Amino acid sequence: MSRCFLSAALTFCLALPALAQSHIALTVDTTHSPQKILHVHEVIPVQPGPLTLYYPKWIPGEHGPDGPLSAVTGLHFIADGKDIPWQRDLLDVYTFHLDVPGGVTHLDANFDFIEAEGFSASDKLLVLEWNQVALYPAGTPSAQLMYDATLVLPDGWKFGTSLPIEHESGSRVTFKPISFDLLVDSPVIEGQYYRVVDLTPSGESIHHELDLAADSEAALAIPPAIQKGLTNVVAESGVLFGARHYRDYHFLLALSDHVAHFGLEHHESNDSRLPERVFLEPGGAFTVGSLLPHEFVHSWNGKFRRPADLTTPDFEKPMETDLLWGYEGLTDYLGPMLAARSGLWTPEQYREFLASIAASLGPGRPGRTWRPLLDTASGEPMGGPGGGLRGWTNWRRGVDYYDEGDLMWLEVATLIHQVTHGQKSIDDFCHIYHGGPNNGPEVKTWTFDQLVATLNSVAPYDWAGFLHQHLDSKSPDTPTGGMENGGWKLIYNAEPIGLPGRRGGAGDAYSIGLQLSPEGMVTDSIVGSPAYDAGISSAMKVIGVDGRLYTHDLLEDAIKAAKDSTEPITLTYVDDDYIHTASIDYHGGIRYPHLTRDDSKPDYLDELIKPHAGGL
Ligand SMILES: [Zn+2]
Repeated sequence: MSRCFLSAALTFCLALPALAQSHIALTVDTTHSPQKILHVHEVIPVQPGPLTLYYPKWIPGEHGPDGPLSAVTGLHFIADGKDIPWQRDLLDVYTFHLDVPGGVTHLDANFDFIEAEGFSASDKLLVLEWNQVALYPAGTPSAQLMYDATLVLPDGWKFGTSLPIEHESGSRVTFKPISFDLLVDSPVIEGQYYRVVDLTPSGESIHHELDLAADSEAALAIPPAIQKGLTNVVAESGVLFGARHYRDYHFLLALSDHVAHFGLEHHESNDSRLPERVFLEPGGAFTVGSLLPHEFVHSWNGKFRRPADLTTPDFEKPMETDLLWGYEGLTDYLGPMLAARSGLWTPEQYREFLASIAASLGPGRPGRTWRPLLDTASGEPMGGPGGGLRGWTNWRRGVDYYDEGDLMWLEVATLIHQVTHGQKSIDDFCHIYHGGPNNGPEVKTWTFDQLVATLNSVAPYDWAGFLHQHLDSKSPDTPTGGMENGGWKLIYNAEPIGLPGRRGGAGDAYSIGLQLSPEGMVTDSIVGSPAYDAGISSAMKVIGVDGRLYTHDLLEDAIKAAKDSTEPITLTYVDDDYIHTASIDYHGGIRYPHLTRDDSKPDYLDELIKPHAGGL
């Protein structure tokens, strides 16, 4: 399916008598953003009679019905100077019903949006997601609803976005008319401390930039190596996909300790949020490489090539998420690959990353014995990683379509190489699957059968059987076929994990079976592990190790000492306000996951992550 908003707009506008009147005018006043409140004014063309308006519910990239409706306050509708009553739908709280009086042609909607604490706004910056600050009328596909959007910024703040600008005057910005789906797909970053960094590789005709807003001027100081690495990511993406599907591209990056840290993909930009001082820390390149390449890959995989049943006409119709192992799993494979090809990650870090996600999936991780990979995707709308529950991550499985999807696509990449005797690679697949002319932000949907057909066009193989075997498996074994085909094996030893910030606690998750915060909170207790069998569950707190107050170092000492002893490890823990003691009969020592070379096979894993664009 192709979605050119210009032609869609023309079709829509030709059917109406007055072009300008058919547009919805949306003004978002962010001048009080530091107070965590945004003021919205919307002028909606209407006809007399019943009117249904929606607040966006199913948000692309979030894969669930989680539009932040409870943050909408102060809602009023006014027509010809009079307040118009509204009613919320009894079966769908995102739906509002009104009765427009005779003679009325425009309805004014006013409401406030309250920024949730620690989510999108700090005292010095804001990431504006348009779905949070807009209502839209039912009955017209979002690609055909045209919006004239205006943004008002606090004095002195600057902004970045992929939205084309109509004009700027002081702190007021008016954007060119745009369809509602592309408006929602085009967030704005704004802030007092702001900087634009050009990431366009030499010889590249399409502009790429990093739009940075931070909580301090100092935090904007991007090291040359990270700037070079990100420019390499852009160059490597051109080699990997052989095509782009955007007019220009903006990496919108918020650096703050007072916003949520995540990334959300868009067609011509990404909304990424990291700690304030990430550029100033030793592991900055790894952290940046863990997020931005993934979100960038989504422009091709997820935005351009999108599962057909995730492609909906508006933000009200539910999405079906069963193909997220392709949408997210392939992205989660290609993003780190580009991070390594670009030099943001070292080859060692890439292998340590693979080892840690393989270890998180088994052996000894029983979630895979009841819930296959496919169901982690199909069940996503129930609430993503947490779903409101603390801990029990391995037993519930959460969003394993990322990590297990990553390993599955690595195996696909190695099989393409094997089946074609080295004649084809995952790059050849991406050229076909993600290629084609650049028509701007276009959507080309895919189904399971179409994906299998494309794989077969690159390398004839039983891809349907391969995918079903992975998607439906309830084996407790770690899916390590890709790394083994690539000439590497998963091992465990006492060497700490070689990734910044991922030392892995006391090796506890891989040994006694506990994931612990530095304060001893049990963030996960692996069901069936020695610690779980001794009585410790998620959300309890470990307060003592062998008679002393808990520290990570003491626990590590105890695990090491138990290796040469028959005595159990004694942990004191708190459940609610009761204090208990657990005797953990574990003598396997400290265990961290790593990859080691299998010299009986060629090293294809490293071949896949070598620079391809010659930019290093
Ligand atoms: Zn993603």
